Amino acid sequence: MSSHDKNIKNLRLIDYSVYILSCPKKMINGPCGGYNRSRCEDPRLECVWIKAFENLKKYGKEKDLFKLKLDSMFKIRDHKPIKRDIREKLKIKDRIYLIYEYVASRDIDPRKLEKDLDHIFSTYDAIDFVQNPGGRPLPDPLSLAVFTKKIYPHKHVGFQITGRDYDRDAITSIVASAVVFNIDSIIATTGDLKFHKEKTYGVWDLDSPRIIYLTRLISDLGRDYSGRKILEKPREILVGASLNPYLDPIEPEIYKLNIKKHAGADFFVTQPIFEPETYTRIMRLYKDLLNENDIPEIIPGISIISDIRIASFLIERSGVKLPSKILEALKREDFSLIKETNIEFISDLVRKICMNYGKKIFYISTFGDIDMALEIGESIKKMNC
Ligand code: SF4
Repeated sequence: MSSHDKNIKNLRLIDYSVYILSCPKKMINGPCGGYNRSRCEDPRLECVWIKAFENLKKYGKEKDLFKLKLDSMFKIRDHKPIKRDIREKLKIKDRIYLIYEYVASRDIDPRKLEKDLDHIFSTYDAIDFVQNPGGRPLPDPLSLAVFTKKIYPHKHVGFQITGRDYDRDAITSIVASAVVFNIDSIIATTGDLKFHKEKTYGVWDLDSPRIIYLTRLISDLGRDYSGRKILEKPREILVGASLNPYLDPIEPEIYKLNIKKHAGADFFVTQPIFEPETYTRIMRLYKDLLNENDIPEIIPGISIISDIRIASFLIERSGVKLPSKILEALKREDFSLIKETNIEFISDLVRKICMNYGKKIFYISTFGDIDMALEIGESIKKMNC
């Protein structure tokens, strides 16, 4: 029996050292978003967190797993980040507000980025730069965000940060730079495993709840995890987190959402959704499981899937459920049909979420296709809801 299997077998109810030893990402605040049933993102392993969740569920104690935990290097442990209303911060009122997820292409250069930004900001209100999607190295998103903020100081500019391959000091430097250069938001995620077969997973120091808490320490107090003063002038920066509505079981993801909220997350962005029922289910589960009416801002992630390889990546990595009509169009490789079908689903989704939940903020990704971004952005902005 391998040491991993022994750890799983001997799992005690709340023994965090077991999780750290058995989880490739060393999570201490519940599972990452990579599990599938009881399997880990590395399918050769069992997910130690889901195993613990299932064990505790038998005793009705599963909620005990999901409280914000900070490791011993965090010396400021009692910071209570103030809850912020992002609709108020973004001055949204009743209009639709669109955030564009920018994926840098291989031929990116400052002139191309400048041209792309002109197009994007003709329709979109905000931009968010991705960090190394799927472990593929891209130009550093903070640099792209700083470049953008210099040209468009009044636009909302954000970037993503993952815990993969950055230790807490590196994350502290990145967040401090973002504060200094007036960046508006950071979306913090734990990050994907890199290569399953070679077992070179990447290196983890912090999971997303601790990155969120650390970001709030730096931007709220100007202090790092050890309590050191690192900024004379701290400045408010909005903090986001991710939410995967396709995880099975889904309950741990909902409980974790609450941990991230308490760590200081102001908003959540979902994996791409295509049908309003997916959104409805998350809202209902949040209320039912947590018995809380104070639901955080959950921004629907919306994607145009125009390539079967992107579809396969999302299905395999994140368990995204694509409507069969979109899958059929992708298989036929008929681009106008693909576009038409995607837009049909997106229009229905946006209208229903907007009408049923009063949601006005949408997070759009077209995986680098700027023309498509403009087309979908303009059609959403014209909607009456
Ligand atoms: S799925 Fe994520 S949380 Fe679970 S064991 Fe694997 S890396 Fe850790």
